[in-house]
Amino acid sequence: MALELFNTLTGKVEPLFASDGKALRFYCCGPTVYDYGHIGNFRTFLHVDVLRRAIKLHDIGVHHVMNITDVDDKIIRNAAAAGKPIGEYSSKYERAFFEDMNALGCETPEDIARATEHIPEMVELIQRLAAEDIAYQTEDGSWYFRIARFPAYGQLSGKDLEGIQDGARIDSDEYEKDSARDFALWKSAKPGETSWDTAIGNGRPGWHIECSAMALRYLGDSFDLHAGGEDLMFPHHENEIAQSEACTHVQFARHWFHVRFLLVEGRKMSKSEGNFYTLRDLLLKGYRASAIRFLLLSVPYRQQLNFTFEGLAAETAAVDRLRTFQARVRDGKWLDTASDPELATIIRKSDEGFVAALANDLNTAEARAAIFDLLRAVNTSADQNKLTRADAEATLAVLAKFDSIFSVLEDHDAELTRAALAWAEAEGRMAEVAPEVLEAFGSSSLSDAAIDALVAERTLAKKQRNFARADAIRNELLEKGILLEDSKDGVRWKRK
Ligand code: AMP
Ligand code: ZN
Repeated sequence: MALELFNTLTGKVEPLFASDGKALRFYCCGPTVYDYGHIGNFRTFLHVDVLRRAIKLHDIGVHHVMNITDVDDKIIRNAAAAGKPIGEYSSKYERAFFEDMNALGCETPEDIARATEHIPEMVELIQRLAAEDIAYQTEDGSWYFRIARFPAYGQLSGKDLEGIQDGARIDSDEYEKDSARDFALWKSAKPGETSWDTAIGNGRPGWHIECSAMALRYLGDSFDLHAGGEDLMFPHHENEIAQSEACTHVQFARHWFHVRFLLVEGRKMSKSEGNFYTLRDLLLKGYRASAIRFLLLSVPYRQQLNFTFEGLAAETAAVDRLRTFQARVRDGKWLDTASDPELATIIRKSDEGFVAALANDLNTAEARAAIFDLLRAVNTSADQNKLTRADAEATLAVLAKFDSIFSVLEDHDAELTRAALAWAEAEGRMAEVAPEVLEAFGSSSLSDAAIDALVAERTLAKKQRNFARADAIRNELLEKGILLEDSKDGVRWKRK
């Protein structure tokens, strides 16, 4: 059965294949490393992980390229505010991103490409566009893409470009939802900003050009698939197509894969709504990485997922059920008699149902439902002492196939929560840790240095007559099992 996937470019579900007969070459827009990743970002990356795992399940190789946007308006702004060079600022968030991807069980792409390490490729592409009179330079030295020179503009998003103003320009990296305008390929250097002195002038790349340059560099002029969240379809992906195809004159990516945004408790996730969560926020609240992965994958990628804490609790129970089931089937003493034909049929159907659901546009909801059907049937047989060794082994094989996609059965949860606690401690964010987590993992997670810092902050608060803050710190420490004693010689503390 061929793996079929919806293609945004054609609006149809189409078979997916490696055009070179070996590996499916695909590019996924990676993170902009200016802050910690949030669960919306990870919903997208997790479905891309399922995509790459499903391709491999079909015995097709993968060559997956992901970029790291390590220079853009937000990074420049935040690095300046922190008084750091952009590389120093962004490397912390890049490291955190990979730790989070790892915690969520995402496989590592074959190639990871940083924008700042591919400036020559971007410059070359802009030079090629300039030679075709598609890129033009403005008085300040910036370069723009003239979309009126690319008649196919709008093919992916289906935007109607009637009435676009030739020469109307946009230079922001941030999203411009509705209007199609000439977009910045290269921004001339501004005082105090990071810039590169190149053949097209001193400046820095626009956001869109990096993905074209790196996709072409690693995957060739034409490749199989391009992925990202739905917000990237326009203008980012439209611009990538325009930049690339205007140069190469061949189709850039054949298949386009877009993951729908998630809602949180029924609303758009946003900081101002107070419903914005990073992975780390959730780990510190005591939710397990495996349950977060399972929840973010529970709804197929083209449907909206409504992330709720109730749902997360249900997924925690679901993962536990699957792990208990696997241990039971693996460790039980089962009959040596011949396989039960009725049960063997159910096992085979679950296996086929699982594969078929994934092959059908990555229907993760149906795929997991097939595994829970298996769980119920095999548990019933085991409860009645009828389970045979042959059927138990066949069940374990189906579970292994399930886990080659969902990757939740091996239990690394405690280890990951501990790592999140160590991070919170290093970052002075222990106040965000839920009391249950501290209780489960022990107050010893608070280092001496972290305690000393809180004690010093309390002393200062008292000096400033901010007794509310001083008391809050005392209580916070008490909750974590740290007792304070005020004495003439200052404050002493001890662990309960
Ligand atoms: P960014 O770091 O903002 O460039 O985003 C990285 C990836 O996450 C992109 O593919 C985005 O489309 C995707 N993304 C951002 N917000 C959400 C969201 N709320 N739901 C799903 N995907 C998202
Ligand atoms: Zn991109």
